[in-house]
Amino acid sequence: MRDAEIGHSSSANAAWDEEYDFVVLGSGAAGLTAALVAAIEGMRTLLIEKSDYIGGTTARSSGSVWTPNNSYQRAAGVTGDDQAALEYLDSLVRGRVDRVLRETFIAAGPEMLDYLEKNADVRFQMYRHAPDYRQELPGAAQGGRPLEPLPFDGRSLGKQFDRVGWPLPELMLFGGMMVTRGEAARLLKITRFSLDSFLLGARLVLRYLFDRMRYKRGTRLVLGNALAGRLFKCLLDRDVPVWFNSKTTRLIAEDGRACGLIVRRGSSEVRVHARRGIVLAGGGFPASSELRERYFPKPVASYTAAFEGCTGDTLRLAQEIGGTLGPPEEDVALWFPSSIAKRKDGSTAVYPHIVLDRAKPGLVAVNSAGRRFVDEAVSYHEFTRAMYRAHATVPTIPAMLVCDSRFLWKYGLGMIRPCTPFLKTYIERGYLAVANSVEELARKIGVDAAGLVETVKANNQFAQTGLDTEFGRGNNSYDRGNGDAQHHPNPCLGPIDKPPYYAVAVVPTPLGTSLGLRTNAKSQVLDASGQPVPGLYACGNDQHSIVAGEYPGTGVQLGLGMTFAYLAVMHACRSEQAANTVAVGG
Ligand SMILES: Cc1cc2nc3c(=O)[nH]c(=O)nc-3n(C[C@H](O)[C@H](O)[C@H](O)COP(=O)(O)OP(=O)(O)OC[C@H]3O[C@@H](n4cnc5c(N)ncnc54)[C@H](O)[C@@H]3O)c2cc1C
Repeated sequence: MRDAEIGHSSSANAAWDEEYDFVVLGSGAAGLTAALVAAIEGMRTLLIEKSDYIGGTTARSSGSVWTPNNSYQRAAGVTGDDQAALEYLDSLVRGRVDRVLRETFIAAGPEMLDYLEKNADVRFQMYRHAPDYRQELPGAAQGGRPLEPLPFDGRSLGKQFDRVGWPLPELMLFGGMMVTRGEAARLLKITRFSLDSFLLGARLVLRYLFDRMRYKRGTRLVLGNALAGRLFKCLLDRDVPVWFNSKTTRLIAEDGRACGLIVRRGSSEVRVHARRGIVLAGGGFPASSELRERYFPKPVASYTAAFEGCTGDTLRLAQEIGGTLGPPEEDVALWFPSSIAKRKDGSTAVYPHIVLDRAKPGLVAVNSAGRRFVDEAVSYHEFTRAMYRAHATVPTIPAMLVCDSRFLWKYGLGMIRPCTPFLKTYIERGYLAVANSVEELARKIGVDAAGLVETVKANNQFAQTGLDTEFGRGNNSYDRGNGDAQHHPNPCLGPIDKPPYYAVAVVPTPLGTSLGLRTNAKSQVLDASGQPVPGLYACGNDQHSIVAGEYPGTGVQLGLGMTFAYLAVMHACRSEQAANTVAVGG
């Protein structure tokens, strides 16, 4: 019966080529979750991805999913985390966004995870030692709220494995092998001759070598690649069609209700009917230079580690049928400080300084005056915000990360891994500056020499006492967790006194945008008068940040994206049920 309807419009003025219950735009975690939940709920679902790959920025991400009060925490005996998390978010957001959105997220997040684990082969484990990013606020946790995806065997996707987007090359080993954060930490102990790290390394490398006989990269997927791969597999198992390389040129609304799309596939234009709903999950606009220019603070970020496809087309599509953007908050983006380099093939590498170097002992970040401007160990979002704040008075963009030879060998710096014996190419390409004295380094990197000398001197005193009297580095569990636990008295403070000295420049880069489509707690896109545009939903980074552009902890983007994707579909299903009940009853 349903098939017979294809090709016939349910409305007077549209002739549909294809008919679905639910159409999802974008194949990141948010879009994949929406499509999967819709399929589980029995809806005829179509996923449209504008690029050739599944996963968007999600496939490049660390894959943490921040979901307070999750069932793993409860099983471990944690109680009352919903209230604690709400208190934390309240103190972070400070009333800037409707509280109902936060309450809904905290209530629905665990429900979404349980639902996926019960109804599909989506698997996580608790990320125990992952302190929230703003430890100074009430309700901040030491871990447990973020979950991490279990490793996923890409071979189970068969030929479709090639469809899964690649992680950032600089975050893989040997150009194609993935490791988790825990594995990376264990492998780094190889420099201390640990048997455990040797055996782990041998196991991972063997598997990788076998993989490379048949595949372009390792098939043991972890982090965000595992999440995207696994969700994709769940869709394939349910025969959900995915249209790649398909561009939606227009959304169709009838009587104010979003009910269809015009999609360009190859040379043809297809009119697609979406009977129950359209979900926008295009990942915001971090990759649009035009929108960055329009909305971002100055100096405008020129690079991003986010996926190239996230250019805000979905926001435009929604605005054309009445959707509105949220109000710009203090920030319109979520930030990484990144170093930039040209790859051998001429493309640009954007290396996000997430947790591996800034918090380690023996590094300072300085501005053009050679002065520190922040506790270097804060979260990447806060670090970059501090760059912008400091830049208002002293040029701080780019900022320079400065260390000595001991640090570089032990911890690495940006793209340079620990124990890298040959630095010539990094220096020749202009990525790494090197000098035999702090003064000479300052001149090479264009910062005030006297300022840098004083900064390094002060740092070396802090390293001895273990107290950073300027910025309090290493004073909280988040800082210390990313420091070096073996280093005393403060795991984040070490001397910079072993020449040669090195520096790498970092600039602000959006990992995603937080300015997006205004929605209610059901993920319905709102119009200028605050009323829902029926049939139209937004989630992931297409949804205006419900935490006002703040970054509570690792995994919050994916946690919010997946939760509001789930809520969108559930709302569409329940509205339909209610409509049917009324129709039958009436
Ligand atoms: C290195 C790195 C690490 C990160 N780690 C984490 C982490 O651990 N946890 C966390 O929460 N966040 C993390 N993030 C941020 C997170 O990855 C993103 O915020 C998140 O992936 C956004 O998810 P999304 O589903 O909204 O969009 P995306 O995952 O970006 O997917 C959007 C997709 O939509 C497609 N698209 C765009 N427009 C259209 C259109 N018109 N039609 C069809 N398709 C369209 C895009 O091509 C893309 O494939 C990280 C980011 C980076 C770069």
